[in-house]
Amino acid sequence: NLKGKRAVVTGSNSGIGLGVAEELAKAGADVVLNSFTNRDEDHDLARSFGERFGVSARYIQADLSDGAQARALIDEAVAQMGGCDILVNNAGIQHVAPIEEFPVEVWNRIIAINLNSAFHTTAAALPGMRAAGWGRIINIASAHGLTASPYKSAYVSAKHGVVGMTKAVGLETAGQGITCNAVCPGYVLTPLIESQIPDQMKVHNMDRETVIREVMLQRQPSGQFATTEQIGGTVVWLCSDYAAQVTGTTISVDGGWTAL
Ligand code: NAD
Repeated sequence: NLKGKRAVVTGSNSGIGLGVAEELAKAGADVVLNSFTNRDEDHDLARSFGERFGVSARYIQADLSDGAQARALIDEAVAQMGGCDILVNNAGIQHVAPIEEFPVEVWNRIIAINLNSAFHTTAAALPGMRAAGWGRIINIASAHGLTASPYKSAYVSAKHGVVGMTKAVGLETAGQGITCNAVCPGYVLTPLIESQIPDQMKVHNMDRETVIREVMLQRQPSGQFATTEQIGGTVVWLCSDYAAQVTGTTISVDGGWTAL
């Protein structure tokens, strides 16, 4: 039961972040939703959490490609909720291209959003967690934090970086009531994955169904996508007392991908 805990989930107006925020709210936590947009529907989404889960929820805009905005997100969340007990670093983007054609500005943006933002939010959230003597930092990495695929050099680099930072932060917080872990999903059918299908079709010269079956789920021995609820449930477990001695490590939710 996470009643009274206050959670910030980055990149949570869609996909896995939204699924994680929903499972945390179901478990009783108050939540901050975030993305770079500032639309009525973002704030409506947060308001709907109150009605659906009976928790306090708000939406805070921050563009996490900017380190200062990443730190400001945590400061604003603490100002509005009185603290940040659970931090889920989920925001992420992808681009698929051979490395010699990879646009430099896209490389830099992927590293900024997928890796650097987690450094900034973690640095901003840790002092409060230390003062409280309790905290949970959960980084949504990827099977690509443990293995690689061609044409995803920036993403694979960022996600391996996230896994490394998870270990370092696990060590820096050990014995302080704080844990830091990474969840490594395989393929989850979210807008991010939907948007990759056309690029993969081009790179591999395949139709949509063939890309899903032979490129995406070919890596996933279960032959099934993981769901956002399953990623959210793993995060909730990492927040529980059962997981108090789980730190500085990765949990794969990938249908067997990384066992191959
Ligand atoms: P998604 O595109 O549905 O969601 C990404 C979220 O990040 C969105 O809420 C988006 O608004 C937000 N975001 C993007 N740029 C941002 C920015 N500059 N500032 C703030 N927020 C920003 O994608 P998803 O599939 O739900 O991915 C979520 C995370 O899970 C990512 O880190 C991704 O790498 C990881 N992941 C996804 C899969 C998968 O199969 N879907 C697998 C492994 C890991």
